[in-house]
Amino acid sequence: MKWISDLIDLLFPRHCIVCGEILSRQEQDMCLDCLYKLPKIEQMHLDEIEKVFWGKCDIAAATSYIYYRKGSPYNRLIHRLKYGNRPETGVRLARMAAESLKERGFFDGIDAIVPLPLSKKKQRRRGYNQCDYIAEGLSAVSGIPVIKDSVTRKKANETQTHKSRDERWKNVEGIFELTRPELIDGKHILLIDDILTTGATLTSCAATIQQGCNCRISIFTLAYTYNGI
Ligand SMILES: [Zn+2]
Repeated sequence: MKWISDLIDLLFPRHCIVCGEILSRQEQDMCLDCLYKLPKIEQMHLDEIEKVFWGKCDIAAATSYIYYRKGSPYNRLIHRLKYGNRPETGVRLARMAAESLKERGFFDGIDAIVPLPLSKKKQRRRGYNQCDYIAEGLSAVSGIPVIKDSVTRKKANETQTHKSRDERWKNVEGIFELTRPELIDGKHILLIDDILTTGATLTSCAATIQQGCNCRISIFTLAYTYNGI
């Protein structure tokens, strides 16, 4: 049935999310060239990621996979995952990230993967929670189970984009609720989000969890906002 898939490729060519080139059948999401140049976070910046949370919440470890830089065409991968109704892109990126995390021993001691919840309203509008897909990719490689219903989001925070640092922190206070603490109590959990910027939303969620549970918390985000050189 090769001719059928050849015909489908001809009629509906798939394009590289990053550069727009037509993809060959073996390529997914991006062409090999863009995949090769994927802006993975360098070691010196990986070390900075944990510092984002210093003095804000008690976490065991925090890491991320690719840079989210102003104007970078690679940001389209994240946009596609969040707004483009293509969550499976998140699974594939997370699987790639998980391979390197596994090599570094990052998963050692982690009992469960917890995707940051969306508010019900937002999830209904979007049709899915992008963090669930990132969690799925990490779980497929690490073998660590995903736990979804332990914590919920009471309300959607307003968009953070145009807020100052202080406003961002006030904006996320008390937006999470620990609904089923027994699912994660006593465990070391890996909390998942798509992009790390100030860490305000993740910190708020981690604080809510630690108020009602005895949990060690580590953090993984697919991308890290970095506007330095
Ligand atoms: Zn490309």
